This record gives sequence, C-alpha cells and structure tokens, in this order.
Amino acid sequence: MITGKNFVGNELSAKGNITYSTFDPKLNIPTEWNFHEATDGEINTAAEKAKSAYKAFRNTSGKQKADFLIAIAEEIENLGDGLIRVYMQESGLPEGRAKGERGRTMGQLRAFADLLKEGSWVDATIDTAQPERQPLPKTDIRKMLVPIGPIVVFGSSNFPLAFSTAGGDTASALAAGCPVIVKSHPMHAGTGELVASAIIRAVERTGIPDGVFSNLNSSGIEVGQKLVMHPNVKGVGFTGSIRGGTALYQLANERKEPIPVFAEMGSINPVVALPGALGENGEDWAKSYAGSITLGAGQFCTNPGLLLGVKGKEFEEFGSILGKEIEKIEPGCMLHPNIHKGYEKGKEELSSQSKTEVVASFDTEVPPNYGKQRILKVDSSDFMANPKLHQEVFGPFSVLVQCENTNELEKVIDLLEGQLTGTVLGNEEELENYGPVVETLKNRVGRLIFNGVPTGVEVCPSMQHGGPFPASTDSRFTSVGTAAIQRWVRPVSYQNWPQKHLPDALKDGNPLDIMRLVDGKYTTSKI
Ligand code: NAP
Repeated sequence: MITGKNFVGNELSAKGNITYSTFDPKLNIPTEWNFHEATDGEINTAAEKAKSAYKAFRNTSGKQKADFLIAIAEEIENLGDGLIRVYMQESGLPEGRAKGERGRTMGQLRAFADLLKEGSWVDATIDTAQPERQPLPKTDIRKMLVPIGPIVVFGSSNFPLAFSTAGGDTASALAAGCPVIVKSHPMHAGTGELVASAIIRAVERTGIPDGVFSNLNSSGIEVGQKLVMHPNVKGVGFTGSIRGGTALYQLANERKEPIPVFAEMGSINPVVALPGALGENGEDWAKSYAGSITLGAGQFCTNPGLLLGVKGKEFEEFGSILGKEIEKIEPGCMLHPNIHKGYEKGKEELSSQSKTEVVASFDTEVPPNYGKQRILKVDSSDFMANPKLHQEVFGPFSVLVQCENTNELEKVIDLLEGQLTGTVLGNEEELENYGPVVETLKNRVGRLIFNGVPTGVEVCPSMQHGGPFPASTDSRFTSVGTAAIQRWVRPVSYQNWPQKHLPDALKDGNPLDIMRLVDGKYTTSKI
C-alpha cells in the first residue's frame, strides 16, 4: 500500500498540507497516489537523525553493514509484483525492463555487501616506525578511509530503481558508513516509497540506528535545495539534467562549509564509425545502432547521440541503412509528459538548425507521450560552427556527422564537451592507423568501447561511469560499480597511535585479514 507519506528515519510522517500525485504516461492520466511535500520540520528532523545515526553507523562493522545491504535486497524482492506494477504505472516502462532493473538494484546491493565482507576497500596503508633513522627518527603512520557523513541522494527519473531510492548512490553511501536522505524523484514517488519501506524494514531487522535512512517527497526544487544547504549534510549524489546538477553543485559550493556534489549529467556519447568496420559489417552495425538509439525510448545517459565518420561510400551506406532500420522500430512511451515535451522541443530545435538534413524520422501518429525517433545528418564544418548541435537531446535521437578527412574527425572530437562514453567501430588495424583520433577520444570520455554499443553499463569494479564535465562534476569518480564507494570517504592518518586504540584495519595483527600496503608492499600478513 502506498501512503504518500515521508519516511523520517523509521517514522512515517506527513505534516505538510501540499500534496501532488504521480502520473501514468501510458494512460496519460494522474495516478491515484498522493504524496505530501516534505516540510521544513521533516527536513530538519531527517538531517538531525542522520547526524545522530552517523555517530554509531560510521563505526559499524563491515559484516553488519553487509547484512544490512543484503536485507535491503531481500526486502525489495519481498515487495514482489506490487513494486513492478507501480514502477510500470509511474514510468511507462515495460515489465521486462522493470524486472531487469530490480535485479540490477539487488545485484548492486549484494556487490557492495561482498566488498564490505572482503574489507580491503578501506585502503589501509601502514608505514612502520624507524626509530633508528638518521638524521631524524621516523614515527609510525597508518592511514585508512572513513565515511564523510550524511549524504543526500536525488533519485533519477530514468532509473526509478537502479539510480534512485536504493540505487547505486544509496548503496555505495550506506556501504561507506554514511547515512542517506533520499530526495525522491517526483515522477516515481510511489516506487520510491515502496523501496523506502523495504529499507526501513531492513534497518529494523538488522539493528541499524534510526536515522540512517530517510525518504522525503517533493515535487519542486526547494526541498532538495534545503537539504543540500543543511549543515548536517556532507555530500550529494545526483543523476539528471546538466541544469539541475550544476545548480546543486553551485549551491553546495556557496555553503559556509562547501561539500562535494557527485552529479552524473548529460552526455551524447560519440561513436566513431571507421570505414574498415563499416565495410566489413556496416549493415549489422546499423541494425545494432538503430536498437541502441531507441532502447528505453532513448532515455539512457549512455544513449549514442552522435555518430561520426569520414565521408565516403561506407559511411553513406551506414547512414542510409540506419535510417531504414530506425523507421521500422515502434516508438516507446517516455517517462513523463515533461520529458516527452523536452524531447520534442530539443528534437525540433536541432532539426531546425541550418545545414542539417533529416535522414530518418518516425512520423506516423502514436499515443501521447511516445517518443518518435529521428536521425539528422550534418557536415563536420557546420557541426563545429554550431554548438547547439552538440547538446544532448534526451530521447531516441542521434546526429550523423560526416567529416572531410581524419583530421576533421579529430578536430570534431577535440571540440566536444566531456562525455560518459566514446565508442570506436573499427578493426585492429584501424585502431593503429587512427591512433591520434582514439587518443583525442580518450581525452574526452570516461569509458572507451571497441566494437559495441554504449548502452548497457555493467556493474563491476572496473566500470567507469563518469567523465569530464559536464558528463559528471568530478571525472575522478564513478557512480556505477563498487568503486562508487570512494565518493563518500576521506583518508585519515593515525600517527604514533597505540595499537589497542587503532581501528582493526590498521592493527599489527590484521584481524580483518585484509590486503594492506605495509612499508611499500601489498600484503595480507600480520606485522
Ligand atoms: P532534473 O530536472 O535534473 O531533476 C532531477 C532531480 O533533481 C529532481 O528531483 C529535481 O527536483 C531535482 N532538481 C532539479 N533541478 C534542481 C535545482 N535547481 N535545485 C534542486 N533540485 C533540483 O531531471 P529530470 O526531472 O529527471 O529530467 C529532466 C531532464 O533531465 C530530461 O529531459 C533529460 O534531459 C535530463 N536527464 C538526463 C539524464 C542523463 O542521464 N543524462 C538522466 C535523467 C534526466 P524536482 O523534479 O522536484 O524539481
């Protein structure tokens, strides 16, 4: 059952008179669920509870935090098909996607649980004392990572589960030992409430302190702004628009005590389609890309929005087959009328730029809120001269840019803003021959893909989901995979600290049996 209330720690509360409902984009009507806009009192209580919970939670053992994350995954599973129905109703996304995303969400929680059980993520580094060192003796110094404090997580619109209430930001922050206050996404507040109820049940089951998790509803930007400005909050996780992410980043930097904002924002994910690959497999690549551009109605941050190639028969044919393939695909329902409106506006704005040509456009009538795909074509000189064409259009849309030669290709890539991904379709010989192009691409992106599509982000330790601005606010970190935990910690050194009072991770006996860097060598041995 959905109550529409806020979770302020373990307590269900709804003191605000302002309410709003979510929307069913397929039926094009509001849902039956009403949510209470969080009040200042609720924001403050959530922040106070988080601060107080942090005192105990930051020293909670890896094993207990792992049990907590596993319990969250189990409780999400226990929500059963009810969760799937609400997810589908609030997002317009199909059942397969809902179930897949639920699996990914539970998988992420379990991956962090495994990381905690293994324990070496704290990066324990020990330099033992050298009392005899000349001219000065060296003291014993030991360093490890500790959690930074309560984190505010903004649920994303396009992943109601995997990047929202119990998504990657929440899972990684809890794993680090940071309490989390979620500012639920107004487009899927019901999905968020069900997941929040699962987290609260897991809190109670595993003896985690009250206040480690809160979920606040809001349909405007004020609640999020107040949370970011609250002195008890020490970090922010965000996935969404460049406008929203940069506004929150600026706000956090204007605080008396600035805090980090890890925002994952826009990306057009350039794909460099080289003649060798197109000559060998052009038709297959065109079919794959028609699928990738329209997957999930194009509502992925890794959607391939820019296809670059050198003018010639191969690129021409690729564009023409891609156009035919994409027009065969039935459009999908978008997440919300606002997202659909934004898509149509962006699509028309780019299509109306001079020197652009429509290669393919699905123009048959569809139900309201369905995103009709379109592909544009433009010459590289016109593309370079018009920054509007470099913007992300969030939906099933892509621009083909034909370059005069390899030099132009390199220039176009160099001009692009930071991106989450960059893809090369080529053969190994081309990787060598187009070395400077690939090198330029590497300089603009967080993940390089060879002969594949950028959609589909594996959750694993080696994943980098984040890139130079504006793909994300800090390209040194990832928001997907277990390395995402590094956003919520800071190093602390203990100098000349007595053994008995050191954290277990730094004790001579290595009671946690973790990998440590001791006097310059990685080892699991005792000292
Ligand atoms: P959004 O507008 O960035 O909003 C995301 C969350 O941040 C919402 O909870 C929103 O609150 C909050 N927010 C936005 N601006 C804020 C501000 N200035 N201060 C405080 N909070 C703020 O994204 P969206 O609503 O999910 O989708 C809108 C557009 O974002 C899409 O059409 C698309 O262009 C882009 N988007 C991109 C990606 C990507 O991965 N590249 C993913 C999702 C969306 P309220 O909604 O309550 O105002």
